[in-house]
Amino acid sequence: MFDALSDRLGNTFDRLRGRGALREQDVRDAMREVRIALLEADVALPVARDFIAKVTEKAVGESVLKSVTPGQQVVKIVNDELVAMLGGGANAEGGEDGHVPLTLDAKPPVVIMMVGLQGSGKTTSTAKLGKLIREKHGKKAMMASLDVNRPAAQEQLAVLGEQAQVDTLPIIEGQQPVDIARRALESAKLRNVDVVLLDTAGRLHVDEALMAEMKAVASVATPTEVLLVVDSLTGQDAVNVAQSFSDEVPLTGVILTRMDGDARGGAALSMRAVTGKPIKFAGVGEKLDALEAFHPRRVAERILG
Ligand code: GDP
Repeated sequence: MFDALSDRLGNTFDRLRGRGALREQDVRDAMREVRIALLEADVALPVARDFIAKVTEKAVGESVLKSVTPGQQVVKIVNDELVAMLGGGANAEGGEDGHVPLTLDAKPPVVIMMVGLQGSGKTTSTAKLGKLIREKHGKKAMMASLDVNRPAAQEQLAVLGEQAQVDTLPIIEGQQPVDIARRALESAKLRNVDVVLLDTAGRLHVDEALMAEMKAVASVATPTEVLLVVDSLTGQDAVNVAQSFSDEVPLTGVILTRMDGDARGGAALSMRAVTGKPIKFAGVGEKLDALEAFHPRRVAERILG
């Protein structure tokens, strides 16, 4: 992923570094190339514009142009702004490499509510996260499917739960999402579960009924984390979906799935800047261990080579 972007930026930077002295016009020409590379990677236009404006403002100053290694300085400014754009800037809430971890230390049972459109990879991501919480955090997790719309959605989570070795709430036919959420919390308290993952229903589009259901579930379950699952391959649509959800429910982060198949990376690059929400994890395959913590600084390093 990011291969084309990485190649194009690499060429621009090689030229910049190769010159002893830089004029303002050289920086502006290079930034034009960077802008095109970002747009070709499907970065949202306002994000690309803002990025170029910030880099240019910092890079055309005397202290950079008159320095001994102006090209390197410009590349460093691009690097820093890229990290900031991905959510790892100096004021971000993440750790050193910008990763914003899950909040799991609240009073148990901690509730993680998974939201998103149908087919985004929500159920798979719920199981991946359950497994990760059990294995990496050493906590007792339980999952419950609140998806009463899609036939077999509840069974799908039960099957994945077995593979992930994470318990799922027994299915009661005909029970509605809010009641399932209540039952999941009661069961979790009785069984000393640390983290409850609620896999909510998806729809084909963002609509009022979906949002009303999300809000009703959230008011009963009082989740510590509300994670939106979106498909990286849908590019700018993924960012728009995130914005719509974010307007309605208090999202704490995003899981970007199918990054294994996304050559361009526009959703990953624009998500934070457009929505203000951190990408917490990336889905990188169908298997249950194909979930990676998202580290802005490392992603920036991968792009800039
Ligand atoms: P849901 O409708 O949102 O619950 O979507 P599912 O969890 O059922 O996922 C739909 C399909 O996407 C399944 O075939 C998953 O295996 C696949 N999938 C989910 N996440 C990823 C991912 O990160 N990478 C790849 N390649 N496939 C994924």
